[in-house]
Amino acid sequence: MAFELPPMKYSYNALEPVIDARTVEIHHDKHHATYLKNLNTALENYPDLAASPLEKILIELNKVPEQIRTAVKNNGGGVYNHNLYWAAMRPGKEEKPGSFLLEAIEQTFGSNDLFKAEFEKAGLTRFGSGYAWLSLNPEKKLIIHSTANQDCPLTDGLKPILVVDVWEHAYYLNYQNRRADYLSAWWALVDWSEAEKRYSDALK
Ligand code: MN
Repeated sequence: MAFELPPMKYSYNALEPVIDARTVEIHHDKHHATYLKNLNTALENYPDLAASPLEKILIELNKVPEQIRTAVKNNGGGVYNHNLYWAAMRPGKEEKPGSFLLEAIEQTFGSNDLFKAEFEKAGLTRFGSGYAWLSLNPEKKLIIHSTANQDCPLTDGLKPILVVDVWEHAYYLNYQNRRADYLSAWWALVDWSEAEKRYSDALK
């Protein structure tokens, strides 16, 4: 059993003008697909792991045999993080979170605008490659944080709600070095129904 990429919910050009079609195509068909290929290669001789849900493998990364642990961390994280990133977006205009998630955001961060500012800052200050996240911690509190490379919040005991990819490959064709512009434009693409669903599931 090999892992597969979930089908894209939209076409390559659907996220324009915020993210151009060429960036989405390369990001999905080259970067994401390569993580998938390398994950399947790493698990070739580990049929039990290859048959496990990817989430479970990343939660229990310390149980993965040492000789493939780094490959699984990088490529399993690369597959999972990108799955979440594509699912976090949809074509359209900026909307507010639904009332259930919005209330939690306001309670935790003061307001939706303060939340957005802190989230953008997490993405902007992530040195090098990585992601900015809204996650639920084990105390069921919302937190904003960032991760390096393809590290996955699941491995740190967190439940991811919303993610933005801040690797240069996610924005460089359109924005070059202007990561801040990509982050502020990105809100137009957020699928808040997906985030709210993840939040509800994470609370269970
Ligand atoms: Mn990426």
